[in-house]
Amino acid sequence: MAEHDPNHPYLRRLVGCGHGKLWDEPCVDCEVAGLMDEYKRAARTIARVRDRMRVLGRPMPAGPRG
Ligand SMILES: [Zn+2]
Repeated sequence: MAEHDPNHPYLRRLVGCGHGKLWDEPCVDCEVAGLMDEYKRAARTIARVRDRMRVLGRPMPAGPRG
């Protein structure tokens, strides 16, 4: 690893978050990406709970396709 080479392209990339912000600045793009991950995880959790509840014979209140 060329950690101390300031011209190393990988190191340059690590200076900021990739959206043109430095690490100590708040970055909306990073927060949005985090929120989208959270949203997708939540959607997967809902799907898993629904499937499991159906298996257990206690289906959740139906959505558009039940
Ligand atoms: Zn960012």
